[in-house]
Amino acid sequence: MKKHNFSAGPCILPQEVLQQSADALLNFNGSDLSIIEISHRSKDFVAVMDKACALALELLGLENKGYKALFLQGGASTQFLMAAYNLLEKKAAYLNTGTWSSKALKEAKLFGEVVEVASSKDHNFNYIPKNYTIPDGVDYVHCTSNNTIFGTQIFEFPKVSVPLVCDMSSDIFSRQLDFSKFDLIYAGAQKNMGPAGTTLVVIKESILGKVSRSIPAMLDYREHIDKESMYNTPAVFAVYVSMLTLEWLKNLGGISAIEKINDQKSKILYDEIDRNPLFVGFAQKEDRSKMNVTFNLKEGISNQLFDEMWKSAGIVGINGHRSVGGYRASIYNAMPFDSVKVLVDVMNEFARKL
Ligand SMILES: *Cc1c(COP(=O)(O)O)cnc(C)c1O
Repeated sequence: MKKHNFSAGPCILPQEVLQQSADALLNFNGSDLSIIEISHRSKDFVAVMDKACALALELLGLENKGYKALFLQGGASTQFLMAAYNLLEKKAAYLNTGTWSSKALKEAKLFGEVVEVASSKDHNFNYIPKNYTIPDGVDYVHCTSNNTIFGTQIFEFPKVSVPLVCDMSSDIFSRQLDFSKFDLIYAGAQKNMGPAGTTLVVIKESILGKVSRSIPAMLDYREHIDKESMYNTPAVFAVYVSMLTLEWLKNLGGISAIEKINDQKSKILYDEIDRNPLFVGFAQKEDRSKMNVTFNLKEGISNQLFDEMWKSAGIVGINGHRSVGGYRASIYNAMPFDSVKVLVDVMNEFARKL
C-alpha cells in the first residue's frame, strides 16, 4: 500500500528521484559501474558535484554574487560550531527559537561571547520573538529560519549590517526569499533536499578570513572552497541524490513554483486544524511553519481512534517530537498535495465519528 510519509527527517523524496538514484546505484551513466564505486575524482562524479553546487546557487538566485556552494559532512550540527570557528572573533548574536538554535548557541559559546538577543523558550518555543535589539559590535547574527520540532518559521528576518548566518535545514528551497540578505546559509540535506550524509553550505566568500585563530582544515570554509568540496572524500551518493532533487525542483519551475504548492498544502492543513473542534494548533498563528505543522488533540480527547484511522489510511511519521507531543505533519517540497488531502480527510472523518 502507498504510504503517505510525513516524517520530519530523513523524509520523503520525489518518487522519480528515488527511481533515478536506484538506477545509478547499479549502473551510473551507462558506465556499468555504481555511482558509489567510482572515484570521487572521476570526471563523471566531478560533474555531479559541479552541477549540484551550480543548481543550488541558481535556485537561490545567488550566481555571480560572490557566493560559493559546498557539500560538506557532519550534518547541520557541525555547522553550529564551524560557523563560529570561522566567524566568531569576539561576540556574536543568536536568536533562540528552538532546540536547534539552542544547540547552535551552545556551540558558539566555545569560541567567544554569545548574546542571546531573544528567546521563545518561555512558551516552549511556540512563537518567533519580535522587537528585539541586536547589540553593536557583533561579528555576525545567527538565526534558524524554520523550527522543525516546534513548527514555527521566521517570516521577518533580522535586518543587520553585519553578516547574517542562517540554519535553513528544514525550509531551504521551499519559499522565495532575498537570499542575498544572508551571508552564510547551511542546511542538512535530509529535510528538503536529499538523503542524510551531506550538508549544503552557501557562503559569501568576502566574510571569511577575519578571525585570528587558526582553523583545522576540515573545519575551514576556505579550505573546502579551495578544494571544491573535495578536500576529503565527499558523501558521493548523498550529493548525487541532492543534485537530482535540485534538478527535479528546477524542472518544476524552481522555488517560486514549489512555494505556491507549499502554500496550498499548509493552508488546507491549518484550515482543518482551525475548523475541526477536536484539534488545536501548537504554534502561534502568525508564526506557523509551512513545512512542519504541529498540532494536538484538544484536552481530554483520546488519541486511540485517530491513531488507528491515520495508520489505516497509510499515513506514517506524524507523531510529534517528544518535546511537543501531539502530532507533527512535515510537508516538505516532495510531499504531494494529495497526501496532505488524505490527512485532512482523516481528521475530518475523525470528528464526524467521535
Ligand atoms: C535536523 C536539523 C538540524 C540537525 O541536522 P543534522 O544534519 O542532524 O546535524 C539542525 N537544524 C535544523 C533546523 C534541523 O531541522
